[in-house]
Amino acid sequence: MTQQIPIELKPSAHPLSAAEREKILANPGFGRYFTDNMVTIKYSEGRGWHDAQLSPYAPLTMDPAAMVLHYGQSIFEGLKAYRQPDGSVASFRPDANAARLNRSARRMAMPELPEETFIAAVDALVKQDIDWVPQAGEESLYLRPFMFATEVGLGVNSPAKEYLFMVLASPAGAYFKGGVKPVTVWLSEDYVRAAPGGTGEAKCSGNYAGAMLATQQAVEKGCDQVVWLDPTERRWIEEMGSNNLYFVRGTGPDAEIITPALTGTLLPGITRDSLLSIAQDLGYKVTETRISKEEWQEGCADGSITEVFGCGTAAVITPVGHAKTADAEWTVAGGEMGPITAQMRKALVDIQTGQAPDPHGWMHPLGS
Ligand SMILES: *Cc1c(COP(=O)(O)O)cnc(C)c1O
Repeated sequence: MTQQIPIELKPSAHPLSAAEREKILANPGFGRYFTDNMVTIKYSEGRGWHDAQLSPYAPLTMDPAAMVLHYGQSIFEGLKAYRQPDGSVASFRPDANAARLNRSARRMAMPELPEETFIAAVDALVKQDIDWVPQAGEESLYLRPFMFATEVGLGVNSPAKEYLFMVLASPAGAYFKGGVKPVTVWLSEDYVRAAPGGTGEAKCSGNYAGAMLATQQAVEKGCDQVVWLDPTERRWIEEMGSNNLYFVRGTGPDAEIITPALTGTLLPGITRDSLLSIAQDLGYKVTETRISKEEWQEGCADGSITEVFGCGTAAVITPVGHAKTADAEWTVAGGEMGPITAQMRKALVDIQTGQAPDPHGWMHPLGS
């Protein structure tokens, strides 16, 4: 029923030369370089979404009283476009990102964007900047759709009436150069990420702002990432940094794969959701349940918990090698990547990069 608003194409007249672009693509890192263009779509109450444009990547001019700067209505998504074996480009479940953006929008009292407009915006940017999609293996073009309040005013009695939706694109190297490296995690007992009825389920900027101090503490303790516990009992494992968590109980074909159930305080990851299906495809028993920090520690000590990994768009799957709390420390899977973690990682990456069939219809061609 919704009508797709046309995206006006006004691309950069001065894109980077092929040589300059190739130099960046040789070592893009993550989120450091951006393509030649971006997409912007405006929203005003009464008028709806309007003025959709693809234009040169450039700084924004914003009123200092723009409401996002004061009251933080800001949400985002992250997805990747991968080069396929035939040279075409496809992204992984962009419809799921579009749907989640709208769930986040509802929680933050922001306007929903028609899913087809989300896809059209991402598609237009990939099409224009297609030469920025890397050619090799796990390298990708990371896409960052986001939305924030632009209405000018310091009144805080109601949500903003004006917003901007944007899409940026940034080439991303393979997350783990020279092999996947297990991380050491810090179980945060001092801070919580989200509370019942709060914004934990929304992909909103504020969740990240509130997590920075815990991440800093984790780094001070010699850890790479924070593992969040439930806000009420501070006992049940929720998620890790910008990753959901998976646990493996047992070994071989009889292993059970476990992930914390979506309680409303953790972020419903699209990678998490996809791995539920992949684990079943591989013949494992899969359970969404609760797992406590004691069960994790004791399971590693008695050998019943054999592997633990995080999952999210950026790194796909990250093995956990060590875990620490203020008064305990333990090793997971001998500090190495376990075999089921490696198997699940390969199964997912092979679908994303077109090396394996796509039985769930997850891949969506872009830019063609
Ligand atoms: C984005 C995000 C994830 C992972 O979600 P994916 O859709 O798999 O990328 C997990 N936790 C948090 C807090 C996130 O913001």
